[in-house]
Amino acid sequence: MTQDFATRIIAPGSTIGIMGNGQLGRMAALCAAELGYKVHVFGPGTDSPTEQVCAKATIADYTDLDALRAFAADVDVVTFEFENVPHDSVKLLSELVPVRPGWKCLHLSQNRLREKTFCNENGIGTAPFAAVRSLADLEAAVAKLGRPAVLKTTEMGYDGKGQVKITDATSLADAWAEMNGAEAILEGFISFEREISVIVARGVKGDTACFCPVENVHTNHILDVTIAPAKIPADLARKAEDIATRLVEAMEFVGLLAVEMFVTTDGDVLVNEVAPRPHNSGHWTIDACVTSQFEQFIRAVCGLPLGNPAHHSNARMKNLLGHDIDDWQAILAEPDAKLHLYGKAEAKAGRKMGHVTWVLPKED
Ligand code: AMP
Repeated sequence: MTQDFATRIIAPGSTIGIMGNGQLGRMAALCAAELGYKVHVFGPGTDSPTEQVCAKATIADYTDLDALRAFAADVDVVTFEFENVPHDSVKLLSELVPVRPGWKCLHLSQNRLREKTFCNENGIGTAPFAAVRSLADLEAAVAKLGRPAVLKTTEMGYDGKGQVKITDATSLADAWAEMNGAEAILEGFISFEREISVIVARGVKGDTACFCPVENVHTNHILDVTIAPAKIPADLARKAEDIATRLVEAMEFVGLLAVEMFVTTDGDVLVNEVAPRPHNSGHWTIDACVTSQFEQFIRAVCGLPLGNPAHHSNARMKNLLGHDIDDWQAILAEPDAKLHLYGKAEAKAGRKMGHVTWVLPKED
């Protein structure tokens, strides 16, 4: 690796390589264009929201080494809008071009056991947990953590996929069978008052900036609504921001990290999971903050000064799933609603097609 990869400033006019070609890449590419960058996107499959708005696209598998080498030769920095890129591919890219965040941060956030262990090692609370690699492990873990509990695959789970709640009525053999032999984690069930997230940026010189904590409401395990800022006491908001900042510092992270947390019924803040990229719960920042999460992401990845994350308005963001987007005309007719559509051709049930942010008066 070239010596200056860690600190190199990627000036406007350069080309940013983004791995992953969904809506997060699309909104990041739009902000990159505003700052004078070109984007080259890399990802499998067609109907790609990012490809529609960027200068160049490679459609290839994440393990296609020739395609990865050609991509690295064409870009000045590589980042991700999708964290489950195989880490061997990321390591290969890191030999050729600055990669931000680095492969170690991706590797950590790809696995729930690694993620929670890292948090606890750094004094950051999570649900109690145990590794489960067999039915016998599951029985021992349930004996230790009690019921209810949640069994999750350690990798590739999202939007509630690969998760089973273990109640008094659950057969452990059935629950284990649902993991299809994959490594799993059993988590004690957290009695939470609300779910919040903090998005934090860290630049190449170690400077950090947090967006305010927001509250997230899930329906069927998919984010439905984000309320910004979260209506929580100031001391809890500070604690949540402090946790997010400590995490990026401990990870030596460069880029944008989203930290999902529980505010427990007894007033504590526990980390649920992290995502090393822009996050659905930060979409409101486009319309209600001085700097959006996507602009901040581009600034951090390119080694530019971080922008001001302060919100000038409160906001409420709602995801538009599947045929929710058929209401586009009614949404556009609302004076305070900002509609964002991702250009996806097919409105499948549960598919994130767009979002709407209602910009609200700021409350002090
Ligand atoms: P995750 O995929 O880990 O974000 O989990 C999806 C959702 O399941 C979370 O947003 C929570 O609503 C719920 N959940 C996950 N883990 C736990 C837990 N340990 N205790 C209580 N609820 C949980």
